[in-house]
Amino acid sequence: MKKIIALIIFSGFILSIHSQKPKETEDWSGKPEVVTPGEGTQPPSDAIVLYGGAGDLDKWESEREGPARWSAGKELTVVARAGGIKTKQSFGDMQLHIEWRSPAEVKGDGQGRGNSGIFLMGKYEVQVLDSYNNKTYYNGQAGSIYKQTIPLVNACLPPGEWQTYEIIFEAPVFSEDGTKKSSSYVTVIHNGVLIQNHVEILGTTEFIGKPKNTAHPDKLPIHLQDHGNPVSYRNIWVREL
Ligand code: MG
Repeated sequence: MKKIIALIIFSGFILSIHSQKPKETEDWSGKPEVVTPGEGTQPPSDAIVLYGGAGDLDKWESEREGPARWSAGKELTVVARAGGIKTKQSFGDMQLHIEWRSPAEVKGDGQGRGNSGIFLMGKYEVQVLDSYNNKTYYNGQAGSIYKQTIPLVNACLPPGEWQTYEIIFEAPVFSEDGTKKSSSYVTVIHNGVLIQNHVEILGTTEFIGKPKNTAHPDKLPIHLQDHGNPVSYRNIWVREL
């Protein structure tokens, strides 16, 4: 009897599978835009190029006031004490490609060696640091979400070599009353190696004290940090998501 019941159930299952059509699970509702990928690390066709290497800083301005005062040629280099720079355009959710290089001549140690940073929305720092055989607190090394999340591994190249970050960022969302409705998340791939895997950003990345979560606009400029070390950048592009 049990065998007969099992057979009936199994036959029913087979019949129900056959009564379904493949078309029922096809989705034709949202056609993806066609994007032409760039060769190598070149920008894809829908990217906004923030620094392409033509020596122009027209997409950037000083964090303080007026024009960006970094050295700009084929690459963009921090001028110590000139202050950080920020994009004129504001961004929220994004894919950011950025290449950086710490100075070939090693000077200083710990946080004083090849330090700069990419401040998403001007508030959330993905650390740039020469972390090649350079000891510092782990949540402050290259690719850390500064003072929040240690990178999964250290994928740093030796000083003087170009390195790549692919950053996928989801901006936080704030309610009308100023409370945080949903957190920000970030994924970072360093030289092709996953180092931050959809990590929650707990708030602003503070040098001293806990992260802060004061409401801010949906989109804000990207900042690059002047930490007094001549770190260079090139091939910076962003895709809004
Ligand atoms: Mg920094």
